[in-house]
Amino acid sequence: MADHVFEQSTLCVHRTGASTEGFRSFSTPVYRASTIVFPNAQSYRDRSLQFPDGYSYGLMGTPTTRSLEEQLTRLAGGVRSVLVPSGQAAISVLMLTLLAHGDHVLIPDSVYPPVKEFAEAVLQRYGVAFDIYDPMNLQSLRSSIRVGRTKLIWIEAPCSTTMEVCDIREIVSIAKERGALTGCDNTWATSIFCKPISLGVDVVAEALTKYVGGHSDLLLGALSFASMGVYLQVREQLANLGIGVSPDDCSLALRGIETMSVRLAHVGSTALDFALRLKDRPEIARVIHPALPESPGHEYWKRDFQGSTGVFSVQLQMQDTAQIDRALGRLGLFAIGASWGGTRSLVAPMSLDGQRSFGAGSCNSTYLRFSVGLESPLDLWRDIEQFLSAL
Ligand SMILES: *Cc1c(COP(=O)(O)O)cnc(C)c1O
Repeated sequence: MADHVFEQSTLCVHRTGASTEGFRSFSTPVYRASTIVFPNAQSYRDRSLQFPDGYSYGLMGTPTTRSLEEQLTRLAGGVRSVLVPSGQAAISVLMLTLLAHGDHVLIPDSVYPPVKEFAEAVLQRYGVAFDIYDPMNLQSLRSSIRVGRTKLIWIEAPCSTTMEVCDIREIVSIAKERGALTGCDNTWATSIFCKPISLGVDVVAEALTKYVGGHSDLLLGALSFASMGVYLQVREQLANLGIGVSPDDCSLALRGIETMSVRLAHVGSTALDFALRLKDRPEIARVIHPALPESPGHEYWKRDFQGSTGVFSVQLQMQDTAQIDRALGRLGLFAIGASWGGTRSLVAPMSLDGQRSFGAGSCNSTYLRFSVGLESPLDLWRDIEQFLSAL
């Protein structure tokens, strides 16, 4: 009896697997693994030699995650990329890697808001100081640099909500002069429309959650590196922190990338068309879209970007929140929610109250962030008109 059970158990556990001979497909297999098996004891003993690009443990990479890294590296024009569970994690992991007690980091005023919270709640607690700079006035950046202590200048282009496009090249040159590294959040443009590494930036962060995923159903972030040195530091930090990503999510991201350029071209032209039409509406105080000449930093967008995507902001004339909310309730196709970049159009009401150190934007105003999706532009514009007339 026992022998019989044992024989069945081995059959259950050990499979020969089907032959892959004669099978070819376009998709990248989803390799799930914690354990990675070594051919012999010696290679297991030497497994640390597999660091950083080989395979030693599932957490540190599988052919699925490495395929996505490779794809992102090629698009970004870098030397390597790493994957993390979210866009926010990309930023926090980089800062935790590059900054230590006594160091200083500079962050733009209109940064993705959780980054300021991270700096206050985590960096400060570990003895890392930070200052906020005005992305449209680099004098504020120059005067905040602490010689020998400022290790990183964070850039976001365009910034969140008020969408300023800063002079990335000038920030890079200031940083190089003072011995600081630069990191740039490139989530809005993606590598399709901007390649910060080619502008001299050391590390690029992207929330793959947005345009790479493209379907509002996954969370992932990435860092792409201009040099091996910073890459190795971050790869080691990820191992120490025990951070890895799911191969299923990477497989979805690999699929998303295949259609990304076509999706971006479509939402980019629809969003620009809507921005131009909204400019003439009396309900709108200001449209902020980097491709509009009156938007802050338009000249830098024109110089450094090859296009615009589907996200832009408007500042409303109306200040009565209850009435704005009622009008937003009239939208049928635009859903209300965060995390843009999917196939569905979204709108999010935003307030800058208490969030900004410099003058950009108005604290009393409601801003709407539009993310144009893949629905018919005609239907979407009808939806926007419905909202405007309800205002
Ligand atoms: C959404 C977003 C992030 C964070 O991405 P998550 O994957 O949601 O954590 C970071 N930066 C920018 C500019 C974003 O829009």
